[in-house]
Amino acid sequence: MNGYQLPQFGESITDDSGARWVLLGAPGSGKGTQAHFLSDRLGMTHLASGDLFRDHRARGTCLGLKVASYMDQGRLVPDDLVIDMVLERMSRPDAVRGVLLDGFPRTVPQARALDMALAPDGVTIALFIAVSEGELVRRLSTRMTCVQCQSPAGSDTKGCSCQRCGGKLIQRDDDRPEAVSRRFREYESKTSPLLEYYQSQGKLRHVDGERDVEEVSSALMHVIESGNEEVHVQGTSGTI
Ligand SMILES: [Zn+2]
Repeated sequence: MNGYQLPQFGESITDDSGARWVLLGAPGSGKGTQAHFLSDRLGMTHLASGDLFRDHRARGTCLGLKVASYMDQGRLVPDDLVIDMVLERMSRPDAVRGVLLDGFPRTVPQARALDMALAPDGVTIALFIAVSEGELVRRLSTRMTCVQCQSPAGSDTKGCSCQRCGGKLIQRDDDRPEAVSRRFREYESKTSPLLEYYQSQGKLRHVDGERDVEEVSSALMHVIESGNEEVHVQGTSGTI
């Protein structure tokens, strides 16, 4: 696969089940974009929990029906159901190169349950794209969203239509500065314990997300390839 060598930062990464990476980042951190980049580049399966729900619902699987009954009542889908879906997806042939988990786990109990399901090695590495509250407010409060397909668009698209589906672009209430701050604090309070959890296992890797998309991608690749924290070289951050 383009000569890419699997990194050597853990025993489990080269075992038959492939690597299990968790990607963490606040809404607006660019996590989705980076997840697509990494899965393309490394041939890993991007496993977004929201997509899994929709996929199972659409196929009318047993799991999908169970999930639907929770979602339709506006209730949280229980951890064991989500884990069942994640494991089922990971067992498919195309996931053999490894998976990149996006949107799950969200809490420490979920992380523990996932590690137990993936025993003995558990999750391989947790990558955290760090972006400050101020930067997220700046990014999201200028973001437009398509009312039809929910695709995001830049602030310079005011008055334009969605490039994907032609739908109307609006600023979501969620993207107003006060709402972004609130969402950030919610995310932080939920995620801090998760970061500590992976940190205590020596599995957490931070990447500075307050840069251009390409620079963040390079930094993530660097961290993945070296297995170490991102190295900050003053004045040459673009060359990582
Ligand atoms: Zn659209």
